[in-house]
Amino acid sequence: MIYFTCDECGADRQASSRYAGELLRCRKCDAETVVPDSSTRAKPEKSEVAENLYVLVIVAVAVLLGVAWFVLDIVLNVFAGP
Ligand SMILES: [Zn+2]
Repeated sequence: MIYFTCDECGADRQASSRYAGELLRCRKCDAETVVPDSSTRAKPEKSEVAENLYVLVIVAVAVLLGVAWFVLDIVLNVFAGP
C-alpha cells in the first residue's frame, strides 16, 4: 500500500502499490493525482491495524465456512446412508 497526500486538497490518500505512477481521482476534491512509487507520508498505524483485523476476520470466516461445509458434508453422507 502506498500512502500519499492529494496535490490539490492535501487529503490523506492511499492506493495499492500496483497503482504506482497512475492517475487516481481524489474522493474529496475530485482532482486526479499521480500515485507516487513509494509512500510520501507515514502510514497511519490505526487503519493498518484495522486493515489487518479486517483480513483476519475474512480469513477466520472463510476457515469457519470451510470447516462447516466439511462437517455438513460428512453429516449428510452419514444420513444419506450407503
Ligand atoms: Zn484532493
